Amino acid sequence: MNGKRIVVLGGTGFLGSHLCERLLRDGAEEVISLDNGITGDESNVTRLSELGNILPVRHDITEPIRLLGPVDYVFNLASPASPINYSQLPIETLRVGALGTENGLRLAREKGAVFLQASTSEVYGDPLVHPQREDYWGNVNPIGPRACYDEAKRYGEALVMAYHRAHGVRTRIARIFNTYGPKMRLVDGRVVPAFIGQALRGEDFTVFGDGSQTRSFCYVRDLIDGLVRLALSDVLVPVNLGNPREMTILQLAEAVRTAAGGGGRIVFQPLPREDPKQRRPDISRARLLLGWEPQVSLEEGLAETLAYFRKVLGISAPAGYESTEQGP
Ligand code: NAD
Ligand code: UDP
Repeated sequence: MNGKRIVVLGGTGFLGSHLCERLLRDGAEEVISLDNGITGDESNVTRLSELGNILPVRHDITEPIRLLGPVDYVFNLASPASPINYSQLPIETLRVGALGTENGLRLAREKGAVFLQASTSEVYGDPLVHPQREDYWGNVNPIGPRACYDEAKRYGEALVMAYHRAHGVRTRIARIFNTYGPKMRLVDGRVVPAFIGQALRGEDFTVFGDGSQTRSFCYVRDLIDGLVRLALSDVLVPVNLGNPREMTILQLAEAVRTAAGGGGRIVFQPLPREDPKQRRPDISRARLLLGWEPQVSLEEGLAETLAYFRKVLGISAPAGYESTEQGP
């Protein structure tokens, strides 16, 4: 990424801001974040100015994108991503997935840039094949409670391939599985920040359903490394990026309790409708084509994330739980 001019759509969000940081550390000449702030936080990127040339621009990418000068890469990470966010913003989610993705693709076409789409394991829906390989076409209810997100992302993949086939745009598709880490918002609603916030405040863990549903949690540093490797590759087919270590939500609650050195009881709350029962990426393709696999264990990742959230909440670490992770 040395010397490159790079546009990150959704650059002030959780993954987007980590990506901007990595690109600056890799020597990018300029990183431009276009973000409307709907679930992001501009302070995530303004503080990166000490690392290099970062330009945060407030822009809704469902509106046309006009930029002067060359662009080498366009990363499209713009979309509400937490189930709580996208169920409250269903039309915005569909519009950014459709119109926003197309505006990003138009920019990449105009500039001759590589376009990387942040897709999702949600394209597999409530999967009937386990673990999920990229050649599985998925099990999605097009009118269900998660449809605004799942179908926007499926449409996004179709649009990306159409721009590649019709216009020769050099496109990449990352199917991202549950990723966690510092800079998530405590109010985000996703399970890792929810459990960490509860553990640090001494509240009960809210487990939805009986907690037997599974997910596979990838630490953000690993995920960002996968995105950069994919962007630098010439791989046109979708690639799963996630951590293949699968666990139940009850096991995750216990892991957070252990990492935090405390937390309340487990209380069971209703399972959201059509909550996927299981999720685990088959990452053979990423291993083979990108030489990528996660390096950070859940225990290490939780420790770094806890250190960040302790700083956010102004809580000091108990003896033996210190970490070097930087706070907000
Ligand atoms: P996030 O909500 O923290 O970030 C999304 C960013 O997109 C926010 O900054 C938001 O303001 C911005 N945005 C939304 N609509 C926009 C619009 N119309 N114009 C401009 N900006 C807009 O979420 P995240 O976890 O960082 O996810 C980033 C991307 O990765 C999303 O596309 C998401 O679907 C994908 N993804 C994330 C995960 C994960 O576990 N974090 C898993 C699968 C896929
Ligand atoms: N979940 C939970 N308690 C919470 C938040 C989420 O038990 O406070 C469950 C949720 O029902 C799902 C899993 O944790 O089964 C992962 O949820 P998340 O919102 O993080 O991501 P998803 O994979 O569903 O998009």
